[in-house]
Amino acid sequence: MSATHEVLNQAPPLIGFSTADDPALLEALRRHGGDWGEQEVRELGARAGSAEVQDWARMAEEHPPVLHTHDRYGHRVDEVEYHPAYHQLMEVAVASGQHAAAWSETRPGAHLVRAAKFYAFAQAEPGHGCPISMTYAAVPALRAEPELAAVYEPLLAARSYDFGLRPPLGKRGLIAGMSMTEKQGGSDVRANTTRAVPDGAGRYVLTGHKWFTSAPMSDVFLTLAQAEEGVTCFLVPRVLPDGGRNPLRLMRLKNKLGNRSNASAEIEYESALAWRVGEPGRGVRTIVEMVNVTRLDCVIGSAAGMRAGLRQALHHAEHRRAFGAELVDQPLMRNVLADLAVESEAATTLAMRLASALDRAEAGDESEAALRRLGLAVSKYWVCKRGATHAAEALECLGGNGYVEESGMPRLYREAPLLSIWEGSGNVAALDVLRALGRENGALEAFLAEVDAAAGADARLDAAVDRLRGLLPQLTDPERAQLLARRVAEQMTLVLQGSLLVRYSHPAVADAFCASRLDGDWGHAFGTLPPGTDTGPILERARPKDAR
Ligand SMILES: Cc1cc2nc3c(=O)[nH]c(=O)nc-3n(C[C@H](O)[C@H](O)[C@H](O)COP(=O)(O)OP(=O)(O)OC[C@H]3O[C@@H](n4cnc5c(N)ncnc54)[C@H](O)[C@@H]3O)c2cc1C
Repeated sequence: MSATHEVLNQAPPLIGFSTADDPALLEALRRHGGDWGEQEVRELGARAGSAEVQDWARMAEEHPPVLHTHDRYGHRVDEVEYHPAYHQLMEVAVASGQHAAAWSETRPGAHLVRAAKFYAFAQAEPGHGCPISMTYAAVPALRAEPELAAVYEPLLAARSYDFGLRPPLGKRGLIAGMSMTEKQGGSDVRANTTRAVPDGAGRYVLTGHKWFTSAPMSDVFLTLAQAEEGVTCFLVPRVLPDGGRNPLRLMRLKNKLGNRSNASAEIEYESALAWRVGEPGRGVRTIVEMVNVTRLDCVIGSAAGMRAGLRQALHHAEHRRAFGAELVDQPLMRNVLADLAVESEAATTLAMRLASALDRAEAGDESEAALRRLGLAVSKYWVCKRGATHAAEALECLGGNGYVEESGMPRLYREAPLLSIWEGSGNVAALDVLRALGRENGALEAFLAEVDAAAGADARLDAAVDRLRGLLPQLTDPERAQLLARRVAEQMTLVLQGSLLVRYSHPAVADAFCASRLDGDWGHAFGTLPPGTDTGPILERARPKDAR
């Protein structure tokens, strides 16, 4: 070391922590009946924060997947090569049952426990979460075709990660993808032009292109194509039962802003063989079953990103001094950190409540199914949108260090907008809220019943719910409804988060949330909690205990 250069006042590396060291997460797990999974969640959380897994995350991002269209002799191979670190992340995710295992778990709370695991592990590296999430979400759509589901579901749920292009039914475990988006339409999948023609033997032949298909080395894809009856859902394997490659030509991999460990391909379907899933002409209805589950993961992933950013921000502020005091003791920095913590906890608490609604809906509770439908729609809009802003502010807490790749913050920052784009971009998500309000029987009633469970506990929450009730009748005019859609989605998410925090969180967190998010005049940037906010308990609660 140079005698003139002693390293002072830099935070130590943040490694060896647990992402499950998170009261909002663990309390939700216990509250909603997932306590039996706590030990596994804790183990996975410790894994996620270990030096080994942090290293995998860095390497998977720094060595993105590479497309090989041809072999050295000129034959098409259409394979993607991943860095070993990506496979290691996938192995842990599959072995811990973050993929489709929850659908065959009989204990109540299976989806909640799975959500907690996904939340804990996505904090290490989010890119591999895409195929894990699609594998999880494929099952309810696949069940529209019971014969296919009977064969594929056990393999999608198997806790073995078995990478490589081989006939699916001979593998120890499968990964599923989703192939909907085309050049001329992503949100508007009815504009799909890929054609599906019966092959006379009970299958279909697909010809067309897909503009975004992530995880193109997946074993099977749920794909939309136009059959004679209209848009229809199909199961498309990459390798056919006889061992031959199904002709899915990978044209390019996207050069993306973030999400770099995950490959996203442009694909040409050149007479690819497909098996129909669900009724012909009802493909959108079939695949919506998948989309509604990946949307839940968008919300969980956004909450995970916020928690990861918050942890880094808190860590830095506790170890960095400026102007004679630690950053964490400077009043304005405390306000920023507490505000980030409140947002993070609101997102986590809501994500876990929605996962538990899925559990109860699966058990036959119609009111929970209705709550899940509308609650998820509003959250996909607002929580995912908050993710990018949260990441920017958390990054800034590290000052210049936060802008440097080694900090990991740029990875978090680049990832955040994605969760707001895919599975329904902001406007599409907000319009989906209108659809759920208009079409789904009992959705609004179930939503308001959940919110009203906290009625009378906080006057600011009560007033916000009244304002929302006043806004809803304005949605009867279709054009006005569109213009109000984002506002309504935001307000609905905020009152739902407020209700959950008032009932379940520390009073200081609930108070700060209601004062800043529900009570009129709050600043639009983070760090604008009103003077008098009790930041001490908020920061104490958010602070990772094992990193002290
Ligand atoms: C990294 C990445 C991976 C992806 N992986 C997959 C994948 O595996 N499989 C897959 O099928 N797709 C995938 N996608 C595609 C993704 O789901 C779409 O990009 C997304 O749904 C938006 O569709 P689009 O790009 O066609 O945009 P568009 O539908 O053209 O939307 C553009 C903008 O218009 C808005 N908009 C659309 N309709 C309306 C309306 N009626 N009123 C007002 N505003 C509207 C949208 O909100 C958006 O802001 C991926 C995308 C990315 C970025």
